[in-house]
Amino acid sequence: MKYFPYRDGQLYAENTPVSEIAARHGTPCYIYSRQALEGAFREYQQALSGCDHMVCYAVKANSNLAVLDALARLGAGFDIVSAGELERVIAAGGDPARVVFSGVAKKPEEMALALELGIACFNLESAAELEVLASVAASAGRVAKVSVRVNPDVDAQTHPYISTGLRENKFGVTTEEALRVYRRAAELQSIEVVGVDCHIGSQLTQISPFIDALKRLLDLIDQLADEGIVLHHLDLGGGLGVCYRDEQPPSIGDYIGAVREVLGDRPLQLVFEPGRSIVANAGLLITRVEYLKPTSEHNFALVDAAMNDMIRPALYQAWLDIRNVNERSDGHRASWDIVGPVCETGDFLGKDRDLTLHQGDLLAIFGAGAYGFTMSSNYNSRPRAAEVMVDGDSVHLVRERERFADIIRGEHRLPDQG
Ligand SMILES: *Cc1c(COP(=O)(O)O)cnc(C)c1O
Repeated sequence: MKYFPYRDGQLYAENTPVSEIAARHGTPCYIYSRQALEGAFREYQQALSGCDHMVCYAVKANSNLAVLDALARLGAGFDIVSAGELERVIAAGGDPARVVFSGVAKKPEEMALALELGIACFNLESAAELEVLASVAASAGRVAKVSVRVNPDVDAQTHPYISTGLRENKFGVTTEEALRVYRRAAELQSIEVVGVDCHIGSQLTQISPFIDALKRLLDLIDQLADEGIVLHHLDLGGGLGVCYRDEQPPSIGDYIGAVREVLGDRPLQLVFEPGRSIVANAGLLITRVEYLKPTSEHNFALVDAAMNDMIRPALYQAWLDIRNVNERSDGHRASWDIVGPVCETGDFLGKDRDLTLHQGDLLAIFGAGAYGFTMSSNYNSRPRAAEVMVDGDSVHLVRERERFADIIRGEHRLPDQG
């Protein structure tokens, strides 16, 4: 972890001790490294240099405005799945002309906003969506640029909940159905066909499923060209995995290199929608040990972060590395279950971790930058955590910890009478 090094037994976020950030901003607290996320984004750019491309960061992985801002300044495009994410991109200074709109059930009002802002492409998920988009565009007097999300029926070999490219998933359409959707799209005045896309899953650790999907999309592109429907871009989605524990995903460079090799010199713009591979390892979640509770069955460390802050272990059995912020030798060394205060047995951050702990210690949960804060909630009326971004010697608070008033905003008691 280049951007989260230990120096003399103390964990740093770039150049600042994590314990200083925790003292100043409290816990639980997310810490992001600007250098780490920019470094990952630049790897995509470098691997794609000399090739017409667009790297559209998947906003859902981490949608903090500072994260979007940092990436927008590097020329990132954005992959969105809702109007809210589009508003975030705009609020962060992103360019709507570099936005692609994924999302399985776009509402007409979301389409209208995206059309008004002039996004690059709507990634269609069904024949029915095409009809709605065509009429929204026609009544706005605009032309909607579209791609069809193809479900290439390849096994991403990842966790079933984050595998999206099999026939049985709700995402996209089969290649046969895609042909019909393209033919229909080509007839519609308010629609311009520009690309094809897929997204076969997340946390992929092998290149071969991507290549299988790519080849199926290229076959479809050829078939469409024979019918006079010529596509401008090919969007391979996101999904590249990261190392949380001992996974060995391909590097960004190797992955892109393999894609470029198969693509050869076809005159297609390449689009990617990476989320996790940009932000996962650019973030930590910091939590404090409130109590130690050794029992005859388990040793529990009760910490102040919970499944409402980081749901991935509970939802996907995700394994995240948990380490002491300040390494110590004098505490209670044991195998600990790191659990939160939420009233659910599933509320754990890690199980059977060999750690030396002491009440009041700070712990760092690594690999927390993607699908961490964005999946957090107010369950148990817990305020959502603070978010901080470090940048060299600077520390910026990029989201304040919620207060009680934030939690009940928009709620109302019953009227007096009755
Ligand atoms: C979630 C998602 C992504 C990002 O996936 P990562 O695994 O985080 O890279 C990209 N495109 C689509 C359509 C998605 O749903």
